[in-house]
Order: sequence, then structure tokens, then C-alpha cells
Amino acid sequence: MKSSLVILYHREPYDEVKENGKIYYREKKSPNGIVPTLKSFFANADHSTWVAWKQVTSKQKTNFEERVTMDGGNDSCVVRRIPLTADQVKNFYYITSKEAFWPILHSFPEHFTYESSDWDNFKQINEMFAEAACEDAADDALIWIHDYNLWLAPYYIRQKMPNVKIAFFHHTPFPAADVFNILHWREAIIDSLLCCDLCGFHIPRYVENFVSAARSNRDVEIVKRGPVPASFTPVGTALAEPELTTQIRHKGRIVNLDAFPVGTNPQYISNLVKQPEVDAQVKKIRHELGDNKLIISAGRVDYVKGAREMLLCFERLLERRPETQGKVNLVLTAVKAAAGMRVYRQAQSQIEQLVGRINGRFSKLNWTPVMLFTEPIPFNELMAFYRAADVAWICPLRDGLNLVAKEYVAAHDGEGGALVLSEFTGSAVELPDAILTNPYSDKRMDECIDTALGMPYEEQAERMKRMMKAICRYDVQQWANHMFREAKASADEAPDEAQEPALV
Ligand code: UDP
Repeated sequence: MKSSLVILYHREPYDEVKENGKIYYREKKSPNGIVPTLKSFFANADHSTWVAWKQVTSKQKTNFEERVTMDGGNDSCVVRRIPLTADQVKNFYYITSKEAFWPILHSFPEHFTYESSDWDNFKQINEMFAEAACEDAADDALIWIHDYNLWLAPYYIRQKMPNVKIAFFHHTPFPAADVFNILHWREAIIDSLLCCDLCGFHIPRYVENFVSAARSNRDVEIVKRGPVPASFTPVGTALAEPELTTQIRHKGRIVNLDAFPVGTNPQYISNLVKQPEVDAQVKKIRHELGDNKLIISAGRVDYVKGAREMLLCFERLLERRPETQGKVNLVLTAVKAAAGMRVYRQAQSQIEQLVGRINGRFSKLNWTPVMLFTEPIPFNELMAFYRAADVAWICPLRDGLNLVAKEYVAAHDGEGGALVLSEFTGSAVELPDAILTNPYSDKRMDECIDTALGMPYEEQAERMKRMMKAICRYDVQQWANHMFREAKASADEAPDEAQEPALV
């Protein structure tokens, strides 16, 4: 029996655990994040396939189990694994994606390098994903593809299966056309995305950027456009956009476009921080802090995340306002990147040097200004830090969405706490009640951290209540429901004599 739903996502939907020499494919421990939500659709469909890659050695490849079912699952929900060698993964994921695509997607052309990229390897892996999807998909299946690593999959799928519904969701920003067009593979990427029935992005600005990139490369007509939904700020902040294009046509094919930001799981998080173990951790952190204010900033090491700008601002704070010395603690998680990702080495040493400099300049016997974690903090512990923190300081130079901002709001559940959030994150256009900052401006950064540290409790709580409402209105379940609803609706708009492009 063929699958009615096929999900292409680089991660597998389970935790692989080896016990007594036997491998088990277990439920993921945390129900937070998008994988558990996607998995619930996957598990509930009549027949479904999830396609992901799996790194294998040449020895493992000979007896590789391409199809697995999860423990407790049934044969109608299959995980198809694409076996990739370490070299394929390195070129595909750590080099071509991170050294060429990532800087362009995040509008950092100065970090862009294509000499190291292996476009043929990228095409080959995308084709393998597409082939696996087509082998399993029913003629009228919905194939839901995730993120720029699989940019070319829609093209290869459409070549083989003209009638399947293809939905694609971009988890990163989509840059302005003049930045996107730096990619000399741009026509192939645009042609592939124009093979979709639905292309989803976090926010209207990214949709509009995609439309202008598509129109600068191909003959694309705008079919439908209107005001942005009320959940997005239409004007007055860096990523605000008043109107949204919802349908375009190319070579007779209609492509639906939409903005629907990934959400978090607010109920789960707000319940979690009330659990006795997490609550005890919160109390312990607060006890150790005494009357000090706690600022939390969580994320990965990445030059887009603005840790350098935040640390410089924190150093200025301690200089500008000596009364804050000994009274404010900054906890920074900058989770280090995988060993093969050379682009992040400089960002990591910059963070480590700055933290060392600040601690060296200002520490007292009983106070260390910055506590840096470079290993991931387990989710429950992180939630305790969120809950205990007076301020969350999230100031990426660019971020597709930023889930940490939403998680911090959920952990406070309307009970105070100030959120300083960069205007250059997708979340900022959903959260106008955050203290919106501009990490490119020292002055604005200084003003915003002062505002956060001095904000009266009542104002914090009012803002938090409104932000909680915003993140509950559009949680991760709504996000997935939205995608399925729109993808199904798009299928009813049959393409009129669509012509297929040839991939460059
Ligand atoms: N996170 C974590 N432990 C850490 C730091 C981060 O579990 O030490 C989680 C965080 O709670 C969030 C995710 O990692 O769910 C980061 O998502 P976000 O959208 O903010 O950034 P991304 O890494 O996807 O760019």
C-alpha cells in the first residue's frame, strides 16, 4: 500500500537506543519541538513515510536497514533512511549548506563561499530523497518537505509524479532578492520551489523576499495578494510587512504561498516549570542569586545569533552603570557546533574570549558576571533557568524565527519577566510586546537592556500576558494543522497545463 503522507525531514523522528547489542527506535524524550508534532501526523495517517538521512560507514552500508518502524508503531508508518557516508554528510550538511547557503539565507554575504561547495553532491542527495519519496508515495499523496537542505527535492519529485501535492516549509529566513541572487545556483533553486503547490515561510517578509527573488529570475505573475493577517505587525519594525502575496503563477502552474511561523508547546512548558523537580531547581537558582538580577540568553554558537553584540553590550552596562557590578548575572548558553562545522570556529573563540575578558575585568570573589555553557543544557534545566530569569536577552543579527523567545514567554505564563528581542528575528513580528532591540545599534541595545532591568513588575506581567496569548494562539500544533489544511486546499486548484522546467 502506498503512502498518503510523505514527510522529508533531515532528522529521524525517534531516538535510536542500543541496549544489549540490540537497536531500539524509541519515542523522543521531550515532546517539545516540531518533530513530535510532525510525528503525530505521521503516526495518524493511514499510510505514511518519513524520509531522513542516516550517516553510515561503508561496513554498515552493506547490511543497512533502509526501512524501520518505531517501537510500538505499526508497519503502515515507515521511516526510510537514506544512508550517507561521512564525506557526503560533511559536504552536504557542514560545507555546502553552512558555508554557501546559510550565510546567504541570513544576509551575511561576507561569509559566503562557494569554492568549497559540492553542488553535484547536493543535487545527488536531494535526488535520493526525492526517489525515496516517490517510491512510497501514492499518486495523490501529500509530500511535505522541510528546509533548504532539500531545496531541489520538489523538482525531482515533480518530474516523476505530476499529480502529488508538494508542500515545502522554509525554517530559515528568506533573504532579499539582491542577496539571494548571489547564489549562482539560484535558477535551479527557484525552479524547484516553483514546482510546489504550497511554499510556507515563517513571516510575510520572507514570502515577499521569495516572490521578488522568483520574479527577478523567472517570468512569475502575482495572482493573489492582500493585507497580512492580524497576528503579524504590519508596520513599524524591521521585518514588518503590510501585505502578503498568497498566490503566484509560473508556466501555468499555481504556487500558493503563506506565512505561518513555527510555534512552541506553551501548555507543556508552563506545566513543566510547575513540576516539583523543576520548581525546586528554580528555587535553588533564585536562592543562590539572592537579590541579584538574572539575565538568560540561550542559543547555539553561530555568527547570526548576535552573542558578540550582546556580550559587548553587557560589558558596556557594567562600565556605564557601576552599580550593576555584583548585582546582575548573565547566564549564556552558546552550544558549540559539531566538529566538522569550521564556519563556527571563529564565532566560538570570539565568545570565549569576550566572556574571559568580561569575567577577568569585573569578577569579584563572590560574583562572576558571565556564566557560559558550551554544552547543551538539558531542556528541563533550561526551563528552570528561563523561569528563574528576570530578563531573557535574545538579540540575533538574523534568525528565521527564534523559539527561545517563545519558550521564555511560556515558562513565565504571564507572571513577569522581561523579554529583550532582536527586531531581526521572525518572532519579533509576532511579539510586539517584547522590548524590541536592534543589535546593529549600540545605543538601542544599551537603552533596551536598561529598560528591561528597570521595568516595573506590573508592566512586565501585562506584556507577558499579551505575549502568552500570542504564542498560544499559534502553537506548534496550529502550525502543523495550518500546513496540512492549506496544502490540501491547494490541491483543489489543479494546475492548468503546467510545463516542467529543466534543472540548471
Ligand atoms: N536549547 C536547549 N539547550 C540549550 C540551548 C538551546 O535545549 O542549551 C533549545 C532551545 O530550548 C530551543 C532550541 O534549542 O528549543 C533552539 O531553537 P531556536 O529556534 O531558538 O534556534 P535554532 O537553534 O533553531 O536556530
